[in-house]
Amino acid sequence: MLMNKAFTAEMKKLLEVKQTELVAQLKDVGRHSAHDARGFEADFPDYGNKDDENASEVATFSDNLSLERTLERTLEDVTAALERVAKGTYGQCRYCGQEIDGRRLRARPESGSCVQCKAKQLKKK
Ligand SMILES: [Zn+2]
Repeated sequence: MLMNKAFTAEMKKLLEVKQTELVAQLKDVGRHSAHDARGFEADFPDYGNKDDENASEVATFSDNLSLERTLERTLEDVTAALERVAKGTYGQCRYCGQEIDGRRLRARPESGSCVQCKAKQLKKK
């Protein structure tokens, strides 16, 4: 059974807002990757060439890098969810095909699996 249209439309709006925010945040921490049109690279800051300056450059770079990766992963999930909206499969668990709980989707509109399957996936790791 598929999600009702009003709910899907509401989630689509949330996802689009989230997507815009993520892209803006990614532009803040990095620039578009030259090697990968979809990807972003973290900026490597240039504070100077003294040892302590180099050390803080590296620290800022790894902060940017992990933030950038988190943002990029979330953006991928959001984009995939919007694709499911377009295909009409939004709200279905990608593992068991059951409808995902509406409250879960409201909290995290990019969710692609139901709570039970998510728990199973986490246990496997
Ligand atoms: Zn499931």
